Amino acid sequence: MFGISFLNTLDRLADEVDTEIADICRQVEKKAYDNHKKVLDQFIKLGVADFHLKGSTGYGYNDSAREKLEELYAGIFRAESSLVRGQIISGTHAIALCLFGILRPGDELLAVQGTPYDTLVKMIGISGREPGSLKDLGISYRQVELLENGLPDYEGIKSAISSRTKMVYIQRSRGYSLRPSFSIEMISSLITFLRECKKDLVVFADNCYGEFVEEREPVEAGADIMAGSLIKNPGGGLAPSGGYLAGKKELVHMAANRWTAPGVGAEIGPSQDYIRLLYQGLFISPRIVTEALHGAIFAARFFERLGYRTIPSYSEPRTDIIQAVVLGSEERVIKFCRGIQSASPLDSLAAPEPWDMPGYDHRVIMAAGTFIQGASLELSADAPIREPYAVYLQGGLSRYYSRLAVIKAASLLS
Ligand SMILES: *Cc1c(COP(=O)(O)O)cnc(C)c1O
Repeated sequence: MFGISFLNTLDRLADEVDTEIADICRQVEKKAYDNHKKVLDQFIKLGVADFHLKGSTGYGYNDSAREKLEELYAGIFRAESSLVRGQIISGTHAIALCLFGILRPGDELLAVQGTPYDTLVKMIGISGREPGSLKDLGISYRQVELLENGLPDYEGIKSAISSRTKMVYIQRSRGYSLRPSFSIEMISSLITFLRECKKDLVVFADNCYGEFVEEREPVEAGADIMAGSLIKNPGGGLAPSGGYLAGKKELVHMAANRWTAPGVGAEIGPSQDYIRLLYQGLFISPRIVTEALHGAIFAARFFERLGYRTIPSYSEPRTDIIQAVVLGSEERVIKFCRGIQSASPLDSLAAPEPWDMPGYDHRVIMAAGTFIQGASLELSADAPIREPYAVYLQGGLSRYYSRLAVIKAASLLS
């Protein structure tokens, strides 16, 4: 166990870290301000009113609350159209709507940063024989690994594109890997290059964890369609469930047909009793994303000072809210996650264990003492139990809470 003096040392270290990160945090505030303005401007421009906060039941025909929310998302993300629904269960579900809604048998999907996020592996059919996977439906798949330096392999991508290639999958965030996340600028040049290789590609961007970290989103960088989860960034910590897609009108329509049924598409879907929280969450999201970023920057510097490798480093520009800390052993990963859990407002007495989570290939441990189950804009720590034993920390509704939890987690690693 650790002694009082170790805790004192950590507290002193935390004070030093606060000073070290102050300039970086100020830059983050500037982006938060711009993003808040972008969101507020759309609320005003579209005339969101009190009566838009009331949801519908049953089929949800002529649901103006839902329609206005979708206009808002489209406006904020500079997209032609969007589908924003509480009944889209997760980011994985939103991504699946785009892949299965747009791709047809004989098409090929190309991933340009190596293996995609874990839950997509079975969905695509990269491993296992999941009934209904893209592979099962006759949609083939290729991936191009990143170069040693973590950048896209332009030559490799060019030679992987064939007459079958219909869609390119770009993942903005690192997910559970240690590659760098893709900045909007990098996504923008990659898309320009892709279009030079083949004009009629559909470029899909997995925007999970990326919203409101930079001033622009992937559609503005040229993506045709993107998707994300409302229990991550754009739900602002308030949305109780949901996912969104935004992009070209006809593509959103294809995905909506997959969501309900062809011919019905986005025309139905009751917004129920909680649509107010989707509005409120979207409104406050730039603020909460900034809190999460402050927490991540603190964690990065704090663990760097303790001798661990952190990705990104505290001073690197960010394009998502994920902070990886390489802990080097299963035992430390478990202790870290237990530390975060024990510092959470809910379920602080639970001791997380690694388990076989649906959709994941390795055992995964997750710490999340969250108000909304699994919401990772609230502070959470996840780690697949595999080399190099990195833990991924994300979210944090308040920077102070993140700071307290990070110090607690560190104290268990002594
Ligand atoms: C979180 C995430 C997803 C989807 O995960 P869900 O848990 O299903 O919401 C997909 N891609 C990336 C990069 C993610 O971070």
